[in-house]
Amino acid sequence: MIEVTCPQCRRRKVVQGRPTFPFCCAGCRDGDLSAWTEERYRIAGEAPPAGSEEAGPLDEAIHPED
Ligand SMILES: [Zn+2]
Repeated sequence: MIEVTCPQCRRRKVVQGRPTFPFCCAGCRDGDLSAWTEERYRIAGEAPPAGSEEAGPLDEAIHPED
């Protein structure tokens, strides 16, 4: 039996061999997944930085086939 620290709740538990490994339970596993997904959406939904228009010609130069 190997004790590991659950990445979600940080509690040390024996999770080796469980389907929720490396998380201690399905709740921790799903919680971590949703947090990760929300983080992805948050980053993707961010508005482009000011002055991004200036990147247009440069981007064309790098990818002329586009
Ligand atoms: Zn946990």
